[in-house]
Amino acid sequence: MSNFSDLGLRDPILRAIKEGGYEQMTPIQSRAIPNIMEGKDLIGVAQTGTGKTAAFSLPLIQYLLKGEGKRKAKTARSLILAPTRELAIQISDNVRDYSKYLHLRSTIVFGGASEKPQIKAMAPGVDILIATPGRLLDLMSQGHIKLNEVEFLVLDEADRMLDMGFIRDIKKIIKELPDKRQTVLLSATMPKSVTTLANTILINPVRVEVAPAATTAEKVEQHVMMVPKSRKRDLLGHVLKDEAIKRVLIFTRTKHGANRVSEFLEKLGVTSAAIHGNKSQNARQRALADFRDGAIRALVATDVAARGIDVDGVTHVINFELPNEPDSYVHRIGRTARAGATGISYSFCDHEERAYLKDIEKNIRQSVPVFEEHPYHEEGMAAAPAGAKKDSNNRGGRPNRNARGGSPKGRAANKTGNKNRRSGSPKPSGNSQNSAENTNANSKPAGNPAGRTSEKPAGKPNRKPGNRPGNRPSNRPSNRPGNKAGNQTGNRSGRKTSSV
Ligand code: AMP
Repeated sequence: MSNFSDLGLRDPILRAIKEGGYEQMTPIQSRAIPNIMEGKDLIGVAQTGTGKTAAFSLPLIQYLLKGEGKRKAKTARSLILAPTRELAIQISDNVRDYSKYLHLRSTIVFGGASEKPQIKAMAPGVDILIATPGRLLDLMSQGHIKLNEVEFLVLDEADRMLDMGFIRDIKKIIKELPDKRQTVLLSATMPKSVTTLANTILINPVRVEVAPAATTAEKVEQHVMMVPKSRKRDLLGHVLKDEAIKRVLIFTRTKHGANRVSEFLEKLGVTSAAIHGNKSQNARQRALADFRDGAIRALVATDVAARGIDVDGVTHVINFELPNEPDSYVHRIGRTARAGATGISYSFCDHEERAYLKDIEKNIRQSVPVFEEHPYHEEGMAAAPAGAKKDSNNRGGRPNRNARGGSPKGRAANKTGNKNRRSGSPKPSGNSQNSAENTNANSKPAGNPAGRTSEKPAGKPNRKPGNRPGNRPSNRPSNRPGNKAGNQTGNRSGRKTSSV
């Protein structure tokens, strides 16, 4: 089954899908939707950017049609939980689009914004409530929201929702839900520990795994650049000389780091904004809007923007600092190469981060090719400078196996071994050491990674401008209102659900 029309979805839903420009189902959609429509609990694992939102939203909408008009005051018939405010907004936009020819009521509840309109929207009851956990619990404790009518629960980015930062809130929320309900969990990453926990909130779930958990998006061409910490800014400036880098998401580990990199970029004349948990919700949304609309070239973010955020035409992701959680890498680089497009990621790895790189490579079950052709490569490959914290996996201070041999010249990580020595070239383009598993059928030859831009394949839906899923033209700034970015932070008095 590959066409939406084969699913038995009601006509108004099919009409909305068609208008959104979708023709064929993606693999997660064709495998998950029929199971969900049969009323089964489901754990769905598929790579980033492969249409998981529609995979749960469409059967949910169809399900809710059965009891249209059944709403009770302050209750919701279904609940979709997401880890960040911006992702919640994005899901809400998608759900509204898919249900635009129906009379379902949906609303969104998230922190960092006034409670009043959210309370008002919940007063008559809704069919679909999209929420971040902190604000939801707040409004529940004030008596504005009751969950005893929820028939359908979705946890998007489920592993994140069930990890340390959120699990207490999720448990409190689940306690308020009726036992008799359908539950759907989706993510691109699903550690075993989380699956065990997930199984306690699902009943006889079907597991649909389009790719093994933590499989990186197929069309991201990944590179790692070895560089001393002290040279990372210089390297960033060097890399950004490449004009093929049209829209770039740059990840740092800390909020201060994000601010500093953004300030540095402004000095360089690269338009940018920072997005992280210390920014006001307005500032977060403005930054994301400017990024979507092409008003800025670079968005510098903490992991607040690592999950779920869908911005068209992100040509590159740069990990200015490697994440210490290996799954984060999968989500971060998954902000490019979405919906069939291609993309490139560069990860700057200093001496102290080699252990992280090792963990990441183990997690994604592939080695990330080393991109040698930049002015700081040899310094980056050399043994850690005196005083630098030693690599925990490599007590001698020598580069570990991820340092590709430890010789100043290094050994290409690329299994194909095709080196291209143009050290000092101002642009990374033309120097790919692309590994076989990362080559891209849609791209120019692998020798020119940065010379490629993100392109949608011919089959990509023809999107119309507007704030709607599936109707933004590829490689063009989106016209979506800037309403997404950031994390559920400080959303309840005195408590934070995330530090990014
Ligand atoms: P998601 O993984 O849900 O964030 O979706 C990633 C991107 O794929 C979004 O831009 C969606 O609009 C788009 N998309 C979802 N389903 C389809 C489909 N069947 N065909 C084409 N694009 C889709």
